[in-house]
Amino acid sequence: MVLQTAIIVFTGLVGLVIGSFLNVVAIRVPAGASLVRESRCPSCDSVIKPWHNVPVLGWLTLRGRCASCGEPISPRYPIVEAITGALFAFVAWLTLATSTVPLPATFAVLVAFLYFAAISVVLTVIDLDTHRLPNAIVLPSYVVAAVLFTTACVLGADWNDLLRAGIGMAILYAFYFVIRLVRPDGMGGGDVKLAGVVGMYLGWLGWGSLAVGAFAAFLLGGVFGLALIGAKKAGRRTAIPFGPWMIAGAWVGIVLGQALGAWYLGLLAV
Ligand SMILES: [Zn+2]
Repeated sequence: MVLQTAIIVFTGLVGLVIGSFLNVVAIRVPAGASLVRESRCPSCDSVIKPWHNVPVLGWLTLRGRCASCGEPISPRYPIVEAITGALFAFVAWLTLATSTVPLPATFAVLVAFLYFAAISVVLTVIDLDTHRLPNAIVLPSYVVAAVLFTTACVLGADWNDLLRAGIGMAILYAFYFVIRLVRPDGMGGGDVKLAGVVGMYLGWLGWGSLAVGAFAAFLLGGVFGLALIGAKKAGRRTAIPFGPWMIAGAWVGIVLGQALGAWYLGLLAV
């Protein structure tokens, strides 16, 4: 119990640091800039001191203003850091609480889902910013997930999970591919590529997760779209980035998929 709590807290702290890195990725990958250059103030270009770069606390001690020029620093930076930290801690808790495989395999699965948490945050920010899901992030994710899930199987997880992940990937990719064929203006190519990654993760967890996660994306996106139209902030033709909804739906599938799937199958059995 103490060990579990320690792992969850530690993972949350790692998440804060990763969140800080994701802020950099979200700005520089769409701009094609280097990831290893030091952080600079976007207003006055002065180099940001390491202690001002500490996740969340740096922004708070600066009271949201650059130490050199006093220009406001967007609250999105500490928000992204805090969300990543919370998501990492949550994934650690969920994985430890639900895992039925040996500890080494559990850790491989944990790393796989922490990776998914990280790309969930950064792709959401980038899609909202630029309406794009960069190949530079989405395509390597297939390799990362495949390697980590295979590692988990080698360490004792069920190979059937890996098989289902592969099938989930194919199903969701094909599903979005067909939607894009029918409605090219409603769905981007980046969405189709991300769908394969999402399908892999949901498939790994189970058929219930895959079904719930895929459905929840359209439910959430549809409700939000209708709300925007209702509020006259969008017309029927307004392009709303779908990536964030696919990702939000995936998390509904990750958290509730197995429970909802079992409940639904229970209804059918009655
Ligand atoms: Zn400045």
